[in-house]
Amino acid sequence: MEYSKFGKKFGGDAGILSLMKDMGEAMAQGGDIIMMGGGNPGHIPAFQEKMQQRLQDIAADDEICKRLLGVYSAPQGELDFLSSLAGMLRREQGWQIGPENICLTNGSQSGFFLLMNMFAGEFEGGRSKKIRLPLAPEYIGYTDIGLSSELFVATRPKIELLEEHLFKYRVDFEELSVGEETGAICVSRPTNPTGNVITDNELERLDTIAKEAGVPLIIDSAYGVPFPGIVFSRATPMWNDNIILCLSLSKLGLPAVRTGIIIAGEEIIRVLSGMNAVMSLAPTGFGAILADQLVDSGEVIDVSQQIIRPFYQDKMEITRRVIAEELDGTPYRIHKPEGAIFLWLWFEDLPISSKELYERLKKRGVLVISGHHFFPGLENDAWQHKNECLRLNYAQDDAQVARGIAIIGEEVKKAYGML
Ligand code: PLP
Repeated sequence: MEYSKFGKKFGGDAGILSLMKDMGEAMAQGGDIIMMGGGNPGHIPAFQEKMQQRLQDIAADDEICKRLLGVYSAPQGELDFLSSLAGMLRREQGWQIGPENICLTNGSQSGFFLLMNMFAGEFEGGRSKKIRLPLAPEYIGYTDIGLSSELFVATRPKIELLEEHLFKYRVDFEELSVGEETGAICVSRPTNPTGNVITDNELERLDTIAKEAGVPLIIDSAYGVPFPGIVFSRATPMWNDNIILCLSLSKLGLPAVRTGIIIAGEEIIRVLSGMNAVMSLAPTGFGAILADQLVDSGEVIDVSQQIIRPFYQDKMEITRRVIAEELDGTPYRIHKPEGAIFLWLWFEDLPISSKELYERLKKRGVLVISGHHFFPGLENDAWQHKNECLRLNYAQDDAQVARGIAIIGEEVKKAYGML
């Protein structure tokens, strides 16, 4: 049996697959594993209660049940939900959009698979184009998404050192090159893994650069505005018909319903709907039906601001306090935590690689992710910084996270020769 290049690509050593496998195996070995590795959102009782209540209401309503279980939605997604969302965004944000500007996908991850391959790869006349990431570190989930190899090209960020062991990555506009070979610009805001929120000013500059180059600006707002709003700094929601804004229901607390939302110009939505039809006839309507009232009424914005964001902000602050105690004396730095559900630690001049640190931590029952995975588009760059960082997910139980950080503190001190 022989696989095509397409088949081989997914059977091979895709970074995200080996990482998920590695974490899965560590979990399966049992014992007392402290899980600070994956991207699962936390479980927020107040939000879960709302969804449980909604499920009960749905179960008692024959008409909605029939739609939920027994009808394919349109290839573009549940039409009622598209109208509710367009209406809410017109009201709340003043954006000139209608349902024709929205397409649902089975999770935003599969939406990115479609978008990235739509704007990069092989073009007519033997030309090829890449997705420009204006900043790396960036989301590991982009790395293996390309049907052709090396779909991404990234620019190293400027590093701004801040007070109290903090630092921040900034877009290096002098080094950012966008030209004929660029198919689209893409940035996650907040960024997974760093919790960076690129500023309104940086985003406006990227928008101008994208328009001038005639390429779309893709904003991955899986954690961002307008919902789920896991942003602790200022971030104005931004959309125009050159922007492709990607939202998701996952980080509200619904990762299992697999609902991604793409907001873009009408022509792009038409192409995406066609892709949905070919690949899956229609995207799942489950999340759309579950969240319709929340979105239609605008309550999703209040829930984001009053339930979701404070939950993560409290956890982030608790985790920072523990880090300040346990890593005291080491030259650690944390990326200024401006959003998302992670802390990004930088150990400058660490005598071992972050991969080795990850292995040592795994042996001690603490699962984190080594930073070297998060540099799509900089694979060939021998930048030492790539091997000096760790990503921690702080969404799980506070006591577990504190125990994990105490162990990280010990291993980091050992690595620096301080213990
Ligand atoms: N974008 C970012 C930055 C993410 O961190 C994730 C998931 O962790 C996704 C997109 C994909 O999310 P989903 O497919 O659950 O919508």
